[in-house]
Amino acid sequence: MEAIWLRVPRLDQSIEWGEDALIVRIHTDAGIVGLGETDSSPAVVKAVIETPASHRTCVGLRDILLGENPLDIDRLWKKMYSGSSYMGSRGAVIHAISAIDIALWDIAGKYYNVPVYQLLGGKYRDEIPAYASFVAADHIDENRRIVNSVLDTGVRTIKLGGGSFGMDPAADKRLLEAVRNQIGPDIQLAIDLVYRWKNHRYARQQAAALEEFDLAWIEEPIPADDHLGLKQLAETISTTISGGEILSARAEFEEFIVKTKPGIVQPDITRCGGISEIRRIHDTTNKHGVQLVPHGFSTGILLAATVHYLVSTPDGEMIEYSHNPSPLFMDLVRNKPPLVDGVVKSSDRPGLGIELDEDLIEKYRVGVTFRAREDFRHAPVGASLRHRL
Ligand code: MG
Repeated sequence: MEAIWLRVPRLDQSIEWGEDALIVRIHTDAGIVGLGETDSSPAVVKAVIETPASHRTCVGLRDILLGENPLDIDRLWKKMYSGSSYMGSRGAVIHAISAIDIALWDIAGKYYNVPVYQLLGGKYRDEIPAYASFVAADHIDENRRIVNSVLDTGVRTIKLGGGSFGMDPAADKRLLEAVRNQIGPDIQLAIDLVYRWKNHRYARQQAAALEEFDLAWIEEPIPADDHLGLKQLAETISTTISGGEILSARAEFEEFIVKTKPGIVQPDITRCGGISEIRRIHDTTNKHGVQLVPHGFSTGILLAATVHYLVSTPDGEMIEYSHNPSPLFMDLVRNKPPLVDGVVKSSDRPGLGIELDEDLIEKYRVGVTFRAREDFRHAPVGASLRHRL
């Protein structure tokens, strides 16, 4: 099992969304290789996978899986969950399980020679309408250029956030004014605050000040665990509130949905527990009448997994397509699902149906491992520390 840390800028350089990734490659004795990823902190997730065991409920995921039958996806998900439970059963542990779960579905598809959506019960549609998301630029002219290229893809909904958006209400208003004027009244516009509104009272004021821009939804205005604040916000503003990309595993989603009453829930398939877990989360959103629109702002592996999942669900009618110039989005997957005329088509190739660019992996790979521990233990302490620093 390989846990590969990719990073475009050097370790001492600043970094933006989408410029690093943790991908997983699982090799089987039948020669099949499964691909997965998680959009998290690569070094942290890599440690969860590679760490030596501390005791029987605190075992690295690699050691849990070696020698197992990769086709036993559900059994292995539960084995990873319980075997690593002492690490916390949430957050980075579930992110690591997500990456592996996606790789196991890829292996199963290749083994049975069918696309992943077929294993999930078959497809309801061939293509999914996309909305485009992008990181807001600091200058209005630069945003204008981005919006133009986004609209060229034929999408009817766009979302902006990140950068310095959400820090300065006057600047936010100027930006949204310019964007709304540019796109006209018929394109839907959403914003992502990444928790930058200070509390629900402040968020209510900001939402009221932006009402004139007819926002399709407001994403993550305040932290997902501020249940009371989100509930009060949902009850007092008319704009739809969305969130959930930070949550992991079904229990967190159930609590979030019941306590905050969001309009849209956005699990990220590489963070929420993988393809296996998003199915269970989707049952919960359906039970509560909430729309599920997965989060997606990383590599083509995430995109492909999301496409396979959404075409296999009766209500998978919107997908996020990131407008992300990072080579990890643009080029890591040689044949990533394209966005054409506003829709993303599914692949009919076995598994996820994707191939990685090996040269790109070698170019951006961060060469560190948590597995070289025996030589560390047996080396003279001073020398080994100096070597590693
Ligand atoms: Mg977001």
